[in-house]
Amino acid sequence: MNEHISRAIAERIDDLVALTVDLIRFPTVNPPGEGYTPCTEYIANRLKKQGFQTTLIRGEDTPGDNDRYPRTNVIARYEGRRPGPTVHFNSHIDVVEAGAGWTVDPFAGVVRDGKVYGRGACDMKGGLAASIIAAEAFIAVNPDFSGAIEISGTVDEESGGFGGVAYLAQKGFFSKPRVDHVIIPEPLNKDRICLGHRGVWWAEIETKGSIAHGSMPFLGDSAIRHMGAVLHAFEEELFPALDAKQTRMPVVPEGARRSTLNLNSVHGGQTEDYFPGLPSPNVPDSCRLVIDRRFLIEEDISEVRNEVVRILERLKRERPKFDYAIRDLMEVLPLMTESDAPVPTAIARGIREVFGKEPEYVISPGTYDQKHISRIGHLHDCVAYGPGILDLAHRPDEWVGIDDMVESAKVMAIGLDVLLKGAAKAA
Ligand SMILES: [Zn+2]
Repeated sequence: MNEHISRAIAERIDDLVALTVDLIRFPTVNPPGEGYTPCTEYIANRLKKQGFQTTLIRGEDTPGDNDRYPRTNVIARYEGRRPGPTVHFNSHIDVVEAGAGWTVDPFAGVVRDGKVYGRGACDMKGGLAASIIAAEAFIAVNPDFSGAIEISGTVDEESGGFGGVAYLAQKGFFSKPRVDHVIIPEPLNKDRICLGHRGVWWAEIETKGSIAHGSMPFLGDSAIRHMGAVLHAFEEELFPALDAKQTRMPVVPEGARRSTLNLNSVHGGQTEDYFPGLPSPNVPDSCRLVIDRRFLIEEDISEVRNEVVRILERLKRERPKFDYAIRDLMEVLPLMTESDAPVPTAIARGIREVFGKEPEYVISPGTYDQKHISRIGHLHDCVAYGPGILDLAHRPDEWVGIDDMVESAKVMAIGLDVLLKGAAKAA
């Protein structure tokens, strides 16, 4: 292993723990988006002292942005001595609400038995701290490196990333020539490299009926019964068909290595809001179903949509008075960076050197900010790699292991060495 890097990180362990604790103490809960400005100012002040140029950028007019809860992001950049490629570490600073069931204060940053506890410890302030220490250690050991290192702390990943990475990508912060390589230190376990995610299609299906008195339903037409026919057809045809679609994507957990469909919600009938607890006395003239379809790299988005539309069209032919509308709510294409691209190659070298074994390549069942970097920034050399156990994210007594942060910081610093010093040699 690179002895100088290893020593430089070992010297910074106390700093790494203190930094993680400080970050957890900002209760950056989203929603509503609490404390983004003080947290990003703290990150900027720290990196400024290390020679980074820092900028705070507010995601103006993005969902949730207002003067009480500004969507403040930070980007810090350190220029090497000569021109070269830029490696960017992107971490989200927002965390989900603490929820019940904690045995420690979720925003105190309790350190105990080799772990740092707190909301966001694992997802993903531990990863952010590890990437900062990795960059600082790399710069100390290689003051002559070519290229640049960027570190960002961005908002709203937990709610779609619109005021964070998506906004910054629209402004050109995640595109060439400014940035070449991106590492997102999400908690995917220290010996795994996450190459991307499955695709998403959210849609709303509405069945229509006609209103009538509930005592004479034969005079109307029940939209809920029509929706029942849709759900029945899904059970009989769609779910078995999706179950049978296997993928070459190494999705974890393994249950997600196929197409899936979640029925998010069903809303039917007239509102009960006016007289709480009292049902509406009418035949329902509308029923809406929201679906969340996760699809594979082998599937085409138009076919994903068509297999639902075909069922609805068939019902329209076969079922008297059946009528429907379908509305797309969101679509994200599946992503998979090739494992021999520069970033996964560099991180794999780090994992081999630190752990003496081959990395495990994985794909996330759900999306994260890589989607914006790829789709808006058109930057495809990107992976998620960071410390922390994914299963602990969003749970009570969330923690990150200090050894895990130290080891993954070494992997990240070796990754920088491969991407920046390797580039200098090639140049
Ligand atoms: Zn996360």
